Amino acid sequence: MTKTLAVLGSTGSIGVQALEVAQLMGFEVVALTANSRTDILEGQIRKFSPRFAAVADETAAADLKIKVADTSTKVLSGKAGVEECARCGADSVLNSIVGIAGLAPTLAAIETGSNIALANKETLVAGGKIVMDAAAKKGVAILPVDSEHSAIFQSLQGCQSKKQIKRLILTASGGPFFGKSREELSKVTLEQALKHPNWSMGAKITIDSATMMNKGLELIEAAWLFGMEAANIDILVHRQSIVHSLVEYIDNSVIAQLGVPDMRIPIQYALTYPDRFVSPVRQLDLAEAATLTFEKPDYETFSCINLCRRAFEKGGLFPAAVNAANEKANELFRCGKIGFLDIPRAVENAFDCVQNVSDYTLEQVFEADNAVRTATERLFR
Ligand code: NAD
Ligand code: MG
Repeated sequence: MTKTLAVLGSTGSIGVQALEVAQLMGFEVVALTANSRTDILEGQIRKFSPRFAAVADETAAADLKIKVADTSTKVLSGKAGVEECARCGADSVLNSIVGIAGLAPTLAAIETGSNIALANKETLVAGGKIVMDAAAKKGVAILPVDSEHSAIFQSLQGCQSKKQIKRLILTASGGPFFGKSREELSKVTLEQALKHPNWSMGAKITIDSATMMNKGLELIEAAWLFGMEAANIDILVHRQSIVHSLVEYIDNSVIAQLGVPDMRIPIQYALTYPDRFVSPVRQLDLAEAATLTFEKPDYETFSCINLCRRAFEKGGLFPAAVNAANEKANELFRCGKIGFLDIPRAVENAFDCVQNVSDYTLEQVFEADNAVRTATERLFR
């Protein structure tokens, strides 16, 4: 059970909700980090008095240092500062940084022996083997914050052996464009893509939900977290986001976790596991929800899901490559520089940008990430 907590990416959607949970649970918040939003971070520092705070952007860090000079919080800067916060030795480090920027901090926290509450899925997609090996070596737990993975983790409680599991079923809301054709998708705007039907999240993951790349990333995340073959992980579109995911056992019994769509439930469970505590989240009223629907995804229109499946099956640096292409294309789409369907196009192109290797180092992951980002920019020039 967590007593001291570091929140990496504390100014984001998950970070802010994690601090709400921390306050409610009475955790001592020892470190906070952000990319650049010093206004929000200053407020958090005044509220939680962490020992350390880090801002990745150097100029913003200098600005924060002046703003909180009257407090006892030590302000660090740059990537190294964020990693130092990850190494603060907290019982739990909740990583809610967005993108591959979360990978090195995750490893830093694991090396220090802190348990990881992981929201930053790109960490496992790009560096899955390295992260899982490091965690096993150090004996630290990686507890999922992502709602689907938390649901699977909860549905696995009491499971004696992996042999009893037949498949994992990840649910997907389908995002704002479910049911649309490729022709219709070619015309969607950024504003439409940013309107998620059920969840309020950061911009990057909201676009990932619209392309359904998010479900592809989650498939890889689940494969690493639970040691499953991609072939034994299925996707089911469930528009209401009430059933957060399911585990099918070999006797065909299916266990699922349900709840209203609110990230404070999985965040809290990752920090209090194996205990449970009262939550401010609304209780689920199934009679009010009335109808729960399930259907197969349209894999042809939303091609990112199977591109991720293929990347995981090919192994090596391919997952890091599809992640990098998506991060770059997602950013270009948000800047209005490319169209919506250019995102799957970039993800597909990633397969031509890296070599097939069976084993890889962290340096190779970052090299592949850089190479694919450059290739993705070139694709749209
Ligand atoms: P967000 O954009 O709202 O917040 C991201 C945080 O990361 C911010 O604090 C930002 O300052 C920090 N950050 C960004 N770039 C950074 C960098 N280069 N170095 C250091 N810090 C940096 O994102 P979010 O929606 O909170 O998502 C965070 C992570 O959690 C993502 O990996 C996302 O896929 C995952 N996730 C989010 C949700 C959700 O409901 N928002 C649900 C499941 C999983
Ligand atoms: Mg999710």
